[in-house]
Amino acid sequence: MTTQTRPLDHELIEAAAHVARTRCRGDNHTMAAAGRAQDGRIVTAVNAYHFTGGPCAELVLLGAAAAQGAYELNTIVAVGDRDRGVVPPCGRCRQVLLDYFPDLRVIVGAGERLRTVPLTDLLPESYVWADHQLDTGESESLSTS
Ligand SMILES: [Zn+2]
Repeated sequence: MTTQTRPLDHELIEAAAHVARTRCRGDNHTMAAAGRAQDGRIVTAVNAYHFTGGPCAELVLLGAAAAQGAYELNTIVAVGDRDRGVVPPCGRCRQVLLDYFPDLRVIVGAGERLRTVPLTDLLPESYVWADHQLDTGESESLSTS
């Protein structure tokens, strides 16, 4: 683990908490996420629950950010409705976020344990999307069979 304590982005946490308090409704929208874009902007989103596998707030956030021209995110946090506080990303989101933003930082924990960690700390020894390997010049190791 290379976890290094970074200053907490309280404004980002509050942005997600505000959306969780004011925009989450019923069973369809129970989680909010906020992301800090490269240019400093904060983008927010809520999940879109559906029993077929509706996207988590983190995944909706990727599209919402892109729709606003924010293609690079530095930090992300998710907050649950009903005052559940910061909720760490699920396994699917960890993989998707890693594929989109390998250098992303994630706010996790609660109370005194709230902290910002590199996404890679949450997904060690992770799968690397084959198409991305081709882009990084590691294709030779794939074609040696
Ligand atoms: Zn998720």
